[in-house]
Amino acid sequence: MTRTLDPELRRALAARIRYYNELGIYDLYRQPVSQSAGAPLAASVAEIQTEREFGDEMSPRKSVALRTPAAVEESALEILASKPEHGISDPAKALQIIREDLGDCTRCPLHKQGREQIVFGVGDPEADLMFVGEGPGADEDEQGKPFVGRAGQLLNNMIKAMGITREQVYIANIVKCRPPGNRTPEREECETCSPFLMRQIAVVKPKVIVALGATAAKTLLAMNSSMAQLRGRFYDFKPAGVRSDDPNWTACKLAVTYHPAFLLRDPRQKGEAWKDLQMVMKELGLKPPATGVRVQ
Ligand code: SF4
Repeated sequence: MTRTLDPELRRALAARIRYYNELGIYDLYRQPVSQSAGAPLAASVAEIQTEREFGDEMSPRKSVALRTPAAVEESALEILASKPEHGISDPAKALQIIREDLGDCTRCPLHKQGREQIVFGVGDPEADLMFVGEGPGADEDEQGKPFVGRAGQLLNNMIKAMGITREQVYIANIVKCRPPGNRTPEREECETCSPFLMRQIAVVKPKVIVALGATAAKTLLAMNSSMAQLRGRFYDFKPAGVRSDDPNWTACKLAVTYHPAFLLRDPRQKGEAWKDLQMVMKELGLKPPATGVRVQ
């Protein structure tokens, strides 16, 4: 049975797993302890131990045992479990498996706040470039595809101006269900939904991710900075809690730009967004089309 994990404990566990991932440790298993021990999960997370002491040289196959109470919530274990798409060489099939794993998701409150359908993601399962937005709006909720409304039209123009087509990129959002009234998704909703996005990223293995807007940037980078601070540079990005099957792909670059919906509200910022996209084009060796397409 799926239960809701206290957000603070989930954050602590996710941060610890991200730390192990950065050390190159991915294989995690659960070491049961008796419930009578009664240790709170926070203490157990702090007790995560490697098979060897930190001072020892790490063995090539790295793994950790998590000493968790027997009553630990299923949602926490979702982070730790081996993912069903592992070992699937066809990325389209692997994405389909992630979609099936998501199911008729009720993991966060957005499932009961008026969504019509889950908006999973679209595009080339082997795209070099991936765009990540915040969440579906009314049009996306209706059609089941990300970025199909007015903001989607602008994103399409931005992609065309880069000399490529929408079909050549992969597009997804931090949350896959429409927040009511197009409100910004809550942090807990982002943290509950984004592990599925991380798995999509690990399957697509893009060279560059463009985070569209502050919510996407802050969630992916786990940073709480302003857009002015986040834009204008590349970040090394590894999807938290998952790894790719491809040993040659462990990380990609991530750039931050404005969300197209923001650019519709404040068109004066389109020039700044174009600078961000030009940085990405340079990285990917893309040239704008000869006819010239305006970001409008
Ligand atoms: S937003 Fe994500 S986690 Fe929340 S119900 Fe929808 S699919 Fe599930």
